[in-house]
Amino acid sequence: MTTSFTDLNLHPTLLQTVTELGYTEPTPIQSAIIPTMLTGRDVIGQAQTGTGKTAAFALPMLQNLVSDQRQVQGLVLTPTRELALQVANAIYEYGQHQNVRVLAIYGGQSYNRQIARLKKGVDIVIGTPGRMLDLIRQKVLDLSAARTVVLDEADEMLSMGFIEDIQAILDQTPTRRQTALFSATLPSEIRRLASQYLLDPFSATIQPQQVTVDGVEQRYYLVNAADKTAALTRLFEVEPIRRALIFTRTRVSSGDLANELSARGFAADVLNGDLAQEARERVLNRFRQGQIKVLVATDVAARGLDIDDISHVINYDLPEEVELYVHRIGRTARAGKTGIAISLVTPAEQWRLRRLEGFTKQTIARASLPSEEDILKQREGQLLKQMETWLGRARYQRERELVMRLVEAGHDPLEIASAALKIARAEEKQRPIAPISEVQTARQRRDRRELRTTPGRGSRPDRGEWAQAGRSNPARRDHPSRRESASYETASHEKGMIRLTISQGRVHGIRPNDVVGTIAFHANIPGYTIGKIHIHDHHTLVDVPEQFLAQVLTNNGSYRINKQPVSVEVAS
Ligand code: AMP
Repeated sequence: MTTSFTDLNLHPTLLQTVTELGYTEPTPIQSAIIPTMLTGRDVIGQAQTGTGKTAAFALPMLQNLVSDQRQVQGLVLTPTRELALQVANAIYEYGQHQNVRVLAIYGGQSYNRQIARLKKGVDIVIGTPGRMLDLIRQKVLDLSAARTVVLDEADEMLSMGFIEDIQAILDQTPTRRQTALFSATLPSEIRRLASQYLLDPFSATIQPQQVTVDGVEQRYYLVNAADKTAALTRLFEVEPIRRALIFTRTRVSSGDLANELSARGFAADVLNGDLAQEARERVLNRFRQGQIKVLVATDVAARGLDIDDISHVINYDLPEEVELYVHRIGRTARAGKTGIAISLVTPAEQWRLRRLEGFTKQTIARASLPSEEDILKQREGQLLKQMETWLGRARYQRERELVMRLVEAGHDPLEIASAALKIARAEEKQRPIAPISEVQTARQRRDRRELRTTPGRGSRPDRGEWAQAGRSNPARRDHPSRRESASYETASHEKGMIRLTISQGRVHGIRPNDVVGTIAFHANIPGYTIGKIHIHDHHTLVDVPEQFLAQVLTNNGSYRINKQPVSVEVAS
């Protein structure tokens, strides 16, 4: 028997809100949790995202608010900033007729704003444990009047190493509070946490929907956000792609990615909401007929796309909704064929991945990106295969005559063949193998963050260092990893890169774009291969890939910045 919202003892104002939101009936977790939470009892909900769990705890929390209180009454702890924002928006929406004051607090946002809002008065705070604890310790967040405390995605918080922070936060709340714990899984640490902090809890379990994506080989690659395109181009070198559909989260990024791929020598078209119907049809036909192998699309634009034989679906960004992932990868492995689904995942997105695994009840295997050596071997293997094909066909009469001429001129046939292959490989230079930086684990990132935010532990670089390393490039300024004193060193820290000195610096008005522009243009190398740039007062250091060193140095004499000639030499 299905229940109705009116059976759940909700206040008429909240009933009005759910009706306005178009919710016709409660989801199973809502039917199970709402009436119990309204009695004040502690609860454990084993439920995934997508089950309506946010409303299951938010509606009772809102109903239990006492108006005109100055102190925080509701608290929700979430593993990530994204989820904190999502939950804060949902609670704000559910509480719209109560003028509820909701605040999301998370690391990475200015303290001042959060502190100012807390001082003005907030009813419900939602946030990640680290920042929450920071604010408690700074005595700006007072939880002594919290009535309802929710641990959302508790298993994720534990796997991210937040257990001690959670315990420290719970210890700041009154013992006579109501506690609700939500988690997709209930491993022993979660049960231990529950037995320590929950009193006689009521439990509800919602079985995840079974979804199958049979025939699709799913894997993921862990990469830094800045390396996603580089990772993709490396994969293009080794994957047997017949037709690839790449998904990005936004319209803008789909266009940018298609342009960038094309610039790197991998022709790609874009399918997004900007296209008129006629242009959309043209793009789809090119893709269908195999004139273009790679299509970058948004979820909306790819809706209803009817193309069989897609060998690869690539999630350049993971989708926000788990259902979308299944829709996306369902576009490959159609009609009994097998397909490959590849996801590029940043360390900050790993929680999304685990959620997907929970939803699809399948493990997505982590794979390693091909190394430079792998790619070179692959290219050589392909070249040999092409050679064998041509040798089999033996249709190269005119080329044979050219070889004869070289033999008659006294060259050894083996040397001639080697030189011919060298020429044949020249186009590979247009596809330099993009460097990929090392990925940090969540713990490493956390340790780094702590190091930066703990006073007295060298959190901020001194003014001198700021001025030297990042002043003329604001984009680099907020990247702590780039503020290292390496800006003074004459050798690059990146493998395969060589550090060069340019004879002018800040006092000459040099900007990073000038450096990239002049080197890329005069040495004829792709701008994106140019690495770190450190602008000093009277000179500039720039890293370039070793493979282009000779090309850059032989063009010395032609480099100009702001119309002034500059010299470029290996740094010493
Ligand atoms: P959640 O699992 O809390 O992230 O919710 C998943 C989605 O379901 C959200 O977009 C909610 O707005 C929506 N939702 C929650 N409860 C209901 C309901 N009873 N009927 C329809 N949609 C709902």
